[in-house]
Amino acid sequence: MKTHSLDETKALGARLAGLLGPGDVVELVGDIGAGKTTLVKGMAEALGVAEPVQSPTFTISRTYQLAGGLRLAHYDFYRLVDAGVMADELAEAVADHGTLVVVEWADSVADVLPTNRVTLTIRQVADDPDARIIDWTTSGEMATRLAELTV
Ligand code: ADP
Ligand code: MG
Repeated sequence: MKTHSLDETKALGARLAGLLGPGDVVELVGDIGAGKTTLVKGMAEALGVAEPVQSPTFTISRTYQLAGGLRLAHYDFYRLVDAGVMADELAEAVADHGTLVVVEWADSVADVLPTNRVTLTIRQVADDPDARIIDWTTSGEMATRLAELTV
């Protein structure tokens, strides 16, 4: 898939959120400035989060309350070699069927992420600063649910 603006990436996040639910786990891969947090903003808006979504680069995690007592948990483990207690918090969120989990820079917590997750990779485009190539893979049953994301 290719997006041509920040808003198109947010719209993709909104579509993704519509196909996912609490209990699902999303891993976001891409360089700094690729658009991972932008995609999460689109997801959060679509899920009815009114407060501004900020990058959790320094807090590592932010949790947003959703309707019906559900939660959107956003993690960013950028440059963390040892995630420590935050890995435990992530594990709890992953195990919580009321929480939709999104993780940026998941390398240090790879063993905590479930196999049944979707991994989105965002790449910048050499000749177009506003374009992004976005691909996704999943090894779980989510493939069926996410099939329509590609079209
Ligand atoms: P990351 O979380 O991957 O580090 P951010 O989402 O914080 O990235 O930042 C992405 C930056 O790229 C923003 O400044 C945004 O305005 C810009 N941008 C330009 N084009 C796009 C696009 N098509 N999709 C997402 N972001 C874009
Ligand atoms: Mg980010």
